[in-house]
Amino acid sequence: MTSPLDWIREAASARADAGLTRRLVPTKAHDVVDLAGNDYLGLRHHPAVVAGAVAAVETYGTGAGASRLVTGTLDVHEELEAALAALTGAPSALVLSSGYAANLAALTTLADAGTLVVSDEHAHASLIDGCRLSRAAVSVSRHNDLEHVAELLARRDTPRAVVVAESVYSVLGDAAPVEDLVALTAEAGALLVVDEAHALGVVGPGGAGLVAAAGASGAEHVVVTTTLSKSLAAQGGVVLASPDVRDHLVNTARPFIYDTGLAPGSAGAALAALGVLREHPELPARLHANAARLAETCGVAAPDGAVMSVPMPGPHETVEAVERAAALGVRVGAFRPPSTPDGSSRLRITAHADHTDHDLDRACAVLAELVPSQA
Ligand code: PMP
Repeated sequence: MTSPLDWIREAASARADAGLTRRLVPTKAHDVVDLAGNDYLGLRHHPAVVAGAVAAVETYGTGAGASRLVTGTLDVHEELEAALAALTGAPSALVLSSGYAANLAALTTLADAGTLVVSDEHAHASLIDGCRLSRAAVSVSRHNDLEHVAELLARRDTPRAVVVAESVYSVLGDAAPVEDLVALTAEAGALLVVDEAHALGVVGPGGAGLVAAAGASGAEHVVVTTTLSKSLAAQGGVVLASPDVRDHLVNTARPFIYDTGLAPGSAGAALAALGVLREHPELPARLHANAARLAETCGVAAPDGAVMSVPMPGPHETVEAVERAAALGVRVGAFRPPSTPDGSSRLRITAHADHTDHDLDRACAVLAELVPSQA
């Protein structure tokens, strides 16, 4: 007798044989040094951020209660949008319930069947899914290869084009040539969608990201997406763009229109985190100093942002290293296919501004044992 789940069990067994099974491991306590998470500025437990979340819940309730176009637009959303626009220099901002939704919203509304999308081969899954849902023709460009982007744009036979990149890449941790991409797309009459999920709060003036660093926040053809869930220690996403693009999203983006408004607690936390970042402009520099020390221990170059990627021989060795580190009180991330575009396996290590010297001593002692070049 066959079961309709047979094929799922067979796929699970093949995954296990290849060392590619994903498991949920609860993070329980503060007795680990977290080199895997994305709370880059260490603000998730910051008293002001916690207070911001609590105050918003007390004022607006635990949920937004409706989609933004019904009764789910709250003052805290508008304050947060104003604060995000102020930090980045963007003309306007629209918050959504996640960074994933922000990328789906941007791409499904800025690209259509008459658009060529040129997307970097290392673009995040949410950007890829946005491209797929948009029904645009998609050409994948070699990683950070401007000439390839230009070549693909020049070959287009569609009336519109959109170039998609991350400003700091989520797995490799390297930065895109944002200034050049801004110029290239302007010249080609294309839009540029830049995901700053790993850049906001980390790089650029006051943590404003690399589009701001390139002086392009106000450029009409540049649309920035980002998340509130990493350095802003909350949950949610945002699209930063011209008021015309914002209005277009409000009217046509299904992940915005048909989704309940961002939970007030998340909006309040992100707003408070922006306040902490404003009052403590030294936080990104502290993060970079910590990143440089971790990178040296791992034998890799100091990263552009907070993320370091350490090549490993294969998926089995990667999982083993992650488990050994966890047993020694250090959490590191594992990236294996299909999460890596080039089929490689890597440890993903993230620096955080709130790691103490003691945390780093402990982390570096463990990393020195795990990383192949150090063995
Ligand atoms: N873009 C990038 C580059 C990301 O790394 C992530 C999160 N992993 C997202 C978008 C999605 O953001 P969120 O977690 O807020 O949905």
